[in-house]
Amino acid sequence: MLGYFLVPSGTFASTATYDSIGLIAALAILAGVRMHRPERPAMWYLFAGGQLASVLGDVVYSYYEKVLHEKPYPSLADVFYLAAYPLLAAGLVLLVRRHRGNATGLVEAAIVATGLGLAFWVFVLHPVAAESASSGLERWISTTYPAADVLLLVMLARLFTSPGGRTTSIRLIAAASVLLLAADTAFSLVSLYWNADLPAIDAGFLLSYLCWAAAALHPSMAAPSPAATADHRPLRLVVFGGITMIPPALLFVPWVGHDAIDRRALAAGSVLLFLLVTVRMAEFMRRLRRLAMSDDLTGLANRRSLEQALRDAPAAARPEVALLGVNGFKNVNDELGRPAGDQVLAMLAGRLTAAAPAGALVARVGGDEFAVLLPDASAAEAVTAAQALTGVLREPVAELLLGVSIGLAGGAGLHPDELLRQAEAAMHAAKRSGEPVRWTPVLDERITEHARLGAELRSGLDRGEFRVVYQPIVELPSGRVQSVEALVRWEHPVRGLVSPAGFIPVAEQNGLIVELGAWILRTACERLAFWRATIGADAPNKVSVNVSARQLARPGFAAQVARVLAETGLPAECLAVEVTETAVFEGGPAVVALHELRALGVRIALDDFGTGHSSLGLLQTVPVDTIKVDKSFVDNITSAGRETVIAEALIRLSSGLGLSAVAEGVETAEQAEALRRLGYRYLQGYHFGRPVAEPGFTRTPAAA
Ligand code: C2E
Ligand code: MG
Ligand code: MG
Repeated sequence: MLGYFLVPSGTFASTATYDSIGLIAALAILAGVRMHRPERPAMWYLFAGGQLASVLGDVVYSYYEKVLHEKPYPSLADVFYLAAYPLLAAGLVLLVRRHRGNATGLVEAAIVATGLGLAFWVFVLHPVAAESASSGLERWISTTYPAADVLLLVMLARLFTSPGGRTTSIRLIAAASVLLLAADTAFSLVSLYWNADLPAIDAGFLLSYLCWAAAALHPSMAAPSPAATADHRPLRLVVFGGITMIPPALLFVPWVGHDAIDRRALAAGSVLLFLLVTVRMAEFMRRLRRLAMSDDLTGLANRRSLEQALRDAPAAARPEVALLGVNGFKNVNDELGRPAGDQVLAMLAGRLTAAAPAGALVARVGGDEFAVLLPDASAAEAVTAAQALTGVLREPVAELLLGVSIGLAGGAGLHPDELLRQAEAAMHAAKRSGEPVRWTPVLDERITEHARLGAELRSGLDRGEFRVVYQPIVELPSGRVQSVEALVRWEHPVRGLVSPAGFIPVAEQNGLIVELGAWILRTACERLAFWRATIGADAPNKVSVNVSARQLARPGFAAQVARVLAETGLPAECLAVEVTETAVFEGGPAVVALHELRALGVRIALDDFGTGHSSLGLLQTVPVDTIKVDKSFVDNITSAGRETVIAEALIRLSSGLGLSAVAEGVETAEQAEALRRLGYRYLQGYHFGRPVAEPGFTRTPAAA
């Protein structure tokens, strides 16, 4: 190309160089197709054909100019030149089709083409057509060029507004088309207004040739076009808004408006643009709405959309909502990281959508909560649907087993807020029970009851309404009270004696268990220290204190225990802490605290042993001294059944591991005798004594 500009212009060499560049470009496109073997080569053959037609026009014209020494217009050369446009435009059609643009892309392209087309009409097409000096054929050919350019312009507008990503090759095609368009327009304008030849215009054509060739030679020509992502940035709307300004702005051009054709073209263009932009804005609003109503991560409806669907439901319909909470999802995020967590949620969303009954709306209403709305269903249908949903959610996700809690609520004429609230209350109840729960008014009472109890706990603690009672654990065969278990009691001024089962869970939930537990620990240690000081050898060896998960997981729990022991003067081996399996089976700080306690010399007992998920596994990870065999195994110990087998296995297990075993809940002499025969040495239960403030520490003959 540089060579062309170095060779003196107008010479034969110059013309030959120009034509060769064009020819090489056409051949380069064919070479590119051979080299990269694109899946759909048709587009490139069309480009090569268009390019070749241009070059043939150049050659024919050169022949007229340099050999025949004439400059005919129009001539055979124009036939070739004009033939190039349909070929190039057809190639561009294939390119744009590959992008499979949607209706929005078409509207955008129409906006750009109409706006710029009007400007083209005013500045180029109309003046050229109106050139009165031209003969009929000359005028016809002269207007055909800009008209062909409008065709190119439309294709370019479509290319630039199509949502697909762009490879280098596509960018080069676009550059080639823009250059061709610009050079053509410049050529028309210059010959119209100045009647001169400009080398810059030749440069434009040559650069355009170069870009076609480069586009075909670049390796990305065979690559699939990158995934489409629709562009909805407001800037785009500003551009389209700006384009609608073109027709009124054109009215300021001095020669516009002198004839009716311009006026009609501008009026029609304005109306068309207005309609097109309105359509585009409507699509934009639709999209905004979709964004506001759907969940980004899963693409499901969001809470707002669910509420909207409930509000829109016909009055006669009986909507049912199943609220699904994924249990333990926080652990997935904590252990595998958020991206993995997001993936799990997306997978669950897919499964729910597949498993939901036809016509149901599936929504994600919280971090790990989904909802399925059956717009008109019976309670029984909702239960069936809930069971199907539980099934798919419980399938392992990437080797993870997740639990799910389902709350159901429904009924005609309920306010959406109320319906969702009920479903939520039911779901929380389901978290505790493990089964799908349907909302009933009792649930609400339980919740308000919970809240009231929580508040009363606080004042009860301040007013000193709590007592600690002690239940003997006796040793066989002597019947001596070997140790006592400290159990808390609440002497409520109105309700009377409240059992720990009624308030410990509440205290665990609102965190008061930490303060309450610290008080129990100190009281129990002080008590045993007092007995040791007053009754000496008759005092039990140990006091067992129940400690909840929340206490254990608090930093500094072992240090707190050490302080209490120091202040009460109780030796560490006189204290045992009882923990349940659920408090420690997740590992973490709770197990660390147990090791620290063990290091102090405090004994560790696993409470309600055998009722959790991982009783045996815990014996490996937790430093255990004592297992407390749950009352459920003791209840039927006198009849030969499964429980007896388990109780027998547990005593073997504990003695094999060097642990001591305590059988809980022994209510009768027969049970005590059966346990003794199995080999149990430590028993606890009403048969030996209820939990009381001051157990009598004399030997109990009942055990003998
Ligand atoms: P646990 O630690 O398994 O305590 C044994 C429970 O069984 C006690 O109920 C006790 O009174 C009861 N029990 C003992 N022998 C018999 C019997 O022969 N038959 C029957 N039916 N029951 C018997 P309680 O005192 O109502 O305590 C219930 C649970 O509340 C305890 O179960 C424990 O998990 C929790 N708890 C009690 N006191 C405390 C405490 O101070 N702190 C903490 N964190 N939890 C406590
Ligand atoms: Mg206990
Ligand atoms: Mg127990």
